[in-house]
Amino acid sequence: MTAPLPEAIKTALEAGQKAGLAATGGKNADYIPFLASVPSNLFGIAVVTADGRVFKTGDADYQFAIESISKVFTLALVIDQIGPNALREKVGADPTGLPFNSVMALELHGGKPLSPLVNAGAIATASLVPGKDAEACWAAILDCQSRFAGRKIALSNDVNTSEQTTNFHNRAIAWLLYSSGSCYSDPMRAVDVYTRQCSTLVSAADLATMGATLANGGVNPVTGERVIGDDKTAPILAEMTMEGLYTASGDWAFTVGLPGKSGVGGGILAVVPGELAIASFSPPLDPAGNSVRGMAAVTAVAKSLGRNLYRPRS
Ligand code: GLU
Repeated sequence: MTAPLPEAIKTALEAGQKAGLAATGGKNADYIPFLASVPSNLFGIAVVTADGRVFKTGDADYQFAIESISKVFTLALVIDQIGPNALREKVGADPTGLPFNSVMALELHGGKPLSPLVNAGAIATASLVPGKDAEACWAAILDCQSRFAGRKIALSNDVNTSEQTTNFHNRAIAWLLYSSGSCYSDPMRAVDVYTRQCSTLVSAADLATMGATLANGGVNPVTGERVIGDDKTAPILAEMTMEGLYTASGDWAFTVGLPGKSGVGGGILAVVPGELAIASFSPPLDPAGNSVRGMAAVTAVAKSLGRNLYRPRS
């Protein structure tokens, strides 16, 4: 397999920008008050290759709230520590078919979250981060996000305050998890750590580097640092395929064919294993919670590059 040439990536980014700008509609998330205040017209795309080349366009350096995309990297931290089998047994490895914050999904499955990429599973995953207290767990998560990104990632106090003062639904989920034996630390500590992990700031270029680290078997291709074991990336990418784009994950696999993850901050990340990652940022979301422009842009970039996991390439 030949890695795409710079000209092909530049052409793909142009196609992504055109498709993204043509995609209208959607609305910023507003259940977290901070997110409603982010300018809706921001739009950027980045591609980082598994050999460390960085390409970007538009607002690819604008820093926004990572939100749900953080779930992938806390999952990476925990899978690296306890192994995929323990993670599967304690949290699960199946799509829920229900919205990301569904309580019904928990009730239907005996209190087991099924996926580490929905809120219940992400809170359970955060409860598995080793550390003697919330601060130690938080330090490990922030360090993990930073090593994936290849730079020091920071918490936004504004985003964190906005979330910590409105996250009552997630607290209820954590108590339900605890009552069914699926929360492995104090539940309010798990929600606190989970909420902080969602409140860090990243750019599309950061996300693409984080994804390129997954594409590159766990080694950050820009810094050269091994972040997780090379046998750990496949189960993470499988989880992204099953639940990465909320209730549209099946549609995304059908139409784009790449493991992806989106967040209500407007970010989307897609990974071509062994080759590269594509990331986009644009705040307006569709009813499922995915960035309207971001989905159009990432789809167009992947198509222009001819990358789809399910299509044989010569
Ligand atoms: N912090 C958000 C929440 O827990 C993240 C949701 C998301 O991006 O899907 O509701």
